[in-house]
Amino acid sequence: VQEKLEALKQNSNNTVNALLETSALNLAAKVDAKIKNGEPIGLLEGIPFGIKDVYMVQGTYTTASSELLKNYKSAYTATAIQKLLDAGAIPLVKENCDSFGHGSSSENTIFGAVKNAINPDLVGGGSSGGSAVNVAKDYTVFSIGGDTGGSVRQPAGYNNVYGLKPTYGRISRFGLMAYASSTDCVGPIAKSIEDIRIVLNTMSGQDVKDQTTYASAEITQDDIQSSDSIQTVGYFKNFIDSEAIDPQVKSDFLAAIDKIKAKGIAVKALDFFKSDTLVSTYYTLAMAETASNLSRLDGTNYGNRIERDTLKETYSITRSENFSDETKRRIVGGNQVLSQGFSDEIYLKGLNLRDQISENFENDFKEVDVIISPVTPSTPPKIGDSLKDPLAMYLSDAYTVGFSLGQLPTLTIPQGTATGLQLTAAKNNDELVLKFANFLK
Ligand code: GLN
Repeated sequence: VQEKLEALKQNSNNTVNALLETSALNLAAKVDAKIKNGEPIGLLEGIPFGIKDVYMVQGTYTTASSELLKNYKSAYTATAIQKLLDAGAIPLVKENCDSFGHGSSSENTIFGAVKNAINPDLVGGGSSGGSAVNVAKDYTVFSIGGDTGGSVRQPAGYNNVYGLKPTYGRISRFGLMAYASSTDCVGPIAKSIEDIRIVLNTMSGQDVKDQTTYASAEITQDDIQSSDSIQTVGYFKNFIDSEAIDPQVKSDFLAAIDKIKAKGIAVKALDFFKSDTLVSTYYTLAMAETASNLSRLDGTNYGNRIERDTLKETYSITRSENFSDETKRRIVGGNQVLSQGFSDEIYLKGLNLRDQISENFENDFKEVDVIISPVTPSTPPKIGDSLKDPLAMYLSDAYTVGFSLGQLPTLTIPQGTATGLQLTAAKNNDELVLKFANFLK
């Protein structure tokens, strides 16, 4: 723990929003004492981990990397984090990310752009960039990110580590700051499938504080050993034939297909919605939901209030001064698609398309066991580049957002390449993606 705290202090990748040094050292001392007394310790006891700065942890600052919540201290602890604490894991750091999860590069933050673990001139990915970089750099053993449209999977891919977006509802969202509630997922990032499995098991389960959660069986080591149940793997033709795909990403993906075929598994090309449709459906719904969720941040109950003569002016100046341009863009967009005259044409159309996308997945999983895809169409951009063109940044989420809309379990596995490979299974079948990942190792 001490070593990792030191490394985090020295780190120049901008992954740290707050270091939880005192409590981490106290917790570590307790585990040491147990070991000295010969008491048995649990699997996660004494294991240091990081937390994306969007999770409530009582007594710590939870800023969402935003100016608005820069001085906000959590009043309670998120269910997922509490379960890890109960298992004896030791939180070291609140991790830098895109403000409120809004972004794909971890540049939309008041704490400075997160630098990629492999090449510091490139972005760390986002929005859980700090979490992925800390794992890649061994500053934490695992980190808890949040994935609404790719925020665990994409930075995991950019930094060559594992990142899982579980089935929606498998892990409680209570205490995760809401971005788009219908796709928000708690997700672990780690260096091994085994670590992902253990952390997933620890955090999973029904929670009365999140009515979308469901009970799930523990996934054992044995469960993910045999790959007998995987016979056919599918991929989306249009993702790979797209003009937007980087040649390197394409050839890495084709190499992965060859490897899978060589292991005796059938690979099938599938039809799917165009990337543009996926991205516009996702951003319509995500912006609508974030506009609603963030409406509570007006300086009354939380955050950096800027006082003016009237309440209306106070709300207005507090929000205008304290939200980033990217967050404001989403609030304005979200309120527009929800407003009279637009909602039927845009928002309801988005909901309808989401249903069609889910139906398409259900049909696909009658034919294939797992769907594979590159994590992103391109390699990580240079720091500074993606801020110049928000639309291009939205389009870079083309391969992750569809699986979010489908609420499906999806795992990024490192390939030693620039973006990694995503494995997706049918709803509630998180076990299968871990199994397939193990098989591909
Ligand atoms: N890049 C996507 C967005 O900005 C996904 C972010 C996330 O999953 N939090 O919406």
